[in-house]
Amino acid sequence: MKERLESVKDRIRQVADKCGRNPETVRLVAVSKTMSADKVREAIDGGAAIFGENYIQEAREKIEALSSYPVSWHFIGHLQTNKAKYVVKLFDLIHSVDTLKLARELNKQAGKINKIQEILIQVNIGEEASKSGASVKELKKLTEDISQLENLAVRGLMIIPPFYNEPEKVRPFFSTLRELRDEIRKEAIPNVAMDELSMGMTGDFETAIEEGATLVRIGTAIFGERK
Ligand SMILES: *Cc1c(COP(=O)(O)O)cnc(C)c1O
Repeated sequence: MKERLESVKDRIRQVADKCGRNPETVRLVAVSKTMSADKVREAIDGGAAIFGENYIQEAREKIEALSSYPVSWHFIGHLQTNKAKYVVKLFDLIHSVDTLKLARELNKQAGKINKIQEILIQVNIGEEASKSGASVKELKKLTEDISQLENLAVRGLMIIPPFYNEPEKVRPFFSTLRELRDEIRKEAIPNVAMDELSMGMTGDFETAIEEGATLVRIGTAIFGERK
């Protein structure tokens, strides 16, 4: 585990250096879905500090078991509105907000516990019917609407691009997400920071970093294949 983590961190550092970015501006989200609390503890010992989870029940057990460790938990999976009350209690950053209805519910639940919930807006650039995410067309309006919600803070955008075996084919999705982020940032919407770009997984994170990723979500390269 330690070696795999070191190797991932080295690769992040190398590609950041190569494209003239400060490696500190790329944060590693270790995607621990399906992995046991013991595996996560190993990763913490190996130096991982942020964990990404997709399933609430599974995450809750791990978060409770590991509550004495100073690590941060991010929710990266598809989120149903009726689960909003659980996620605001458990997660520092939610990567997968894609509708106003979901945002409103998160806002309400965050208000109840006096929290400003940080979120990313998930974008479906490929307009794939099978994937969640806001369409490019509705993104600006959605961001403006969410900015009105007092207990949410929009920090940036997230994408799960279509699956290709070649990172080069995914590059246009990453660069488009960066351009969208820059466009919205120019609007200087109050309450919207638009600093973060959550993109890149085991197969393509180097390309994502070249295109500006600030959060890379990496599972397999750290924990090995999932069952
Ligand atoms: C599982 C998952 C990842 C990690 O994928 P790997 O290919 O194992 O690195 C990243 N992002 C999301 C949204 C995921 O569901």
